[in-house]
Amino acid sequence: MKLWTFRNMLIGMVVLFVAALIYFSWKAEEKLPPLDYSIFIGQLNDGEITKVEMRGHSLAVTDKFSRRFQTYAPDVQTVLSKLEAKDVAISTREPRGSSAGFVSPLLFILLMGGMFFMMRKQQRGGGDSGFDKDKAKITPDQQSQVTFADVAGIPEAKAELVETVDFLKNSTKFTRLGGRIPKGVLLQGPPGTGKTLMAKAIAGEAGVPFFSMSGSDFVEMFVGVGASRVRALFEEAKKQEPCIIFIDEIDAVGRSRGSAGAAGGQDEREQTLNALLVEMDGFNSGETVIIIAATNRPDVLDPALLRPGRFDRQVNILAPDVKGREKILAVHAQAMKLGDNVSFEAVAKTTPGFTGAELANLMNESALMAARKDKDAIDLIDIEEAKDKIMMGAERKGMVVSDEERKVTAYHEAGHAIVAELLPEADPVHKITIIPRGRAMGVTQQVPLSDRHAYSREFLRSRIMTLLGGRTAEELIYNEFTTGASNDLQVATDIATRMVAEWGMSDQLGPRAYVMADEGFLQGGSMQRSYSENTAQSIDREINKIIEDCYQQTMILLEGKMAHLHKLAEILVENETIDAQEVDIIMQCRELAELENIPVQR
Ligand code: ADP
Ligand code: ZN
Repeated sequence: MKLWTFRNMLIGMVVLFVAALIYFSWKAEEKLPPLDYSIFIGQLNDGEITKVEMRGHSLAVTDKFSRRFQTYAPDVQTVLSKLEAKDVAISTREPRGSSAGFVSPLLFILLMGGMFFMMRKQQRGGGDSGFDKDKAKITPDQQSQVTFADVAGIPEAKAELVETVDFLKNSTKFTRLGGRIPKGVLLQGPPGTGKTLMAKAIAGEAGVPFFSMSGSDFVEMFVGVGASRVRALFEEAKKQEPCIIFIDEIDAVGRSRGSAGAAGGQDEREQTLNALLVEMDGFNSGETVIIIAATNRPDVLDPALLRPGRFDRQVNILAPDVKGREKILAVHAQAMKLGDNVSFEAVAKTTPGFTGAELANLMNESALMAARKDKDAIDLIDIEEAKDKIMMGAERKGMVVSDEERKVTAYHEAGHAIVAELLPEADPVHKITIIPRGRAMGVTQQVPLSDRHAYSREFLRSRIMTLLGGRTAEELIYNEFTTGASNDLQVATDIATRMVAEWGMSDQLGPRAYVMADEGFLQGGSMQRSYSENTAQSIDREINKIIEDCYQQTMILLEGKMAHLHKLAEILVENETIDAQEVDIIMQCRELAELENIPVQR
């Protein structure tokens, strides 16, 4: 019991308290001594009753000596008039249901049972005696049916890992000459890129058992449990070799020891990590157990994990490129019925940054979308709608938007789009809509021509100008702003800030990085400052300069295209959405007359 963490004790105490409360209130009610009705009436007539609590037919009676009794009134009406006549204080409560008599004890028993169950569960993970039971429970997952054919779009990683299958299948071939089979493989890459899938595919291809555990499971545990779990896991794995141990989210236990920012569970984590290291070192050469770990934070791992003999093979798994996305889409559409017009190439082009998991989700949503319309096959339009839903949130069809709001939104989005179209560095417009989605009143979607991995200064400036385009258009047309642009401004300021302080792209400050994007910066962590107050002011000045500059240029761009702006907005108000082709047609008009000839209504 000493292993109970504070949190669990707290939960336990709260449960006990609530249970006790319910129990005693039920007890208290039941405990009043019974009083015959006739005696009660007698006492009432004698004026000995001072107070009556009525709950339907059942009365809790208090007499002048403050004694309390309980009685049953066959006719409430009569009693009431008698009580009133005698001026007795009456309080009434809603009668309890017929089951009330045993609801409370039932609830009590349930609560106690739940608590007992919780205790046992904790103990099985915790107490040393309980642990023996647990050890017996470690079994491999079901034989993996995943093959390499199911993993698409990450050819480099696949090429590096094919060999592993061979190691598992014919280990003696490699160890015959005294060589050592690699023990640990670390798969690193963003979530959803197929790391787990890859590990399962290796197990499936080799036909070996697959033991899995997740690093995050250990964080919440009692001291000592994580470590013994690890030992038990390895012991079992050795018995069933050749096999694979898969450790997901290894960063949860494998953070470098003594690192800050991991307040709770520190000891536990270190013990688990140490156990893992010891186990990895303790293999005999004859035991073919390959440990595959996955993480999206390789930078925080304890260096000891990466030493030779441990996770000395590191394989990067990145979000797939355009060709990869095409292949992944095909894998997930295998069992689906597709219309003739579906081209995975086209879908892949408009889904930059999508991971394997997101593409799988996209295909699934598309299938649901088509099914909702009672179609026989999934068409391009379904995929497009599913994509919009995933990327921009579901359409808020029920939202009431006034005509005026629609018009402002149309100009706002048209502003974004025109600026994007005019800037050679900016990503082309894919679609504009003024249908409210998620929190946005409208959306201008841009799609890069190719996947970008690094951003040029010009691209970033174009991005800022495109973002400012919405607000600038509003200003030009209405000479005032709405709050619709606040997110645009936020993002624009963010980009400018990082250009100056992180990417060294300002004229004045030059190529210096003043902030270290510390761990978790992208997840909303804070930036660490490492500069003087003076520099801070210069940074602010430079950020302002970039924004101001971009704003002026955006203004000039849009002022030169007022006719186009009006036309685009007009069409948007009428049709709600415009696609890339239509935007192109409008933007290619040189003459006013040409522009006017484009029909507003489709
Ligand atoms: P990770 O472990 O990297 O977070 P998963 O392997 O759990 O990602 O991926 C989740 C799901 O996404 C998989 O089960 C699979 O359906 C799909 N998926 C991810 N990557 C790929 C890929 N490269 N090829 C095919 N499907 C993929
Ligand atoms: Zn906007």
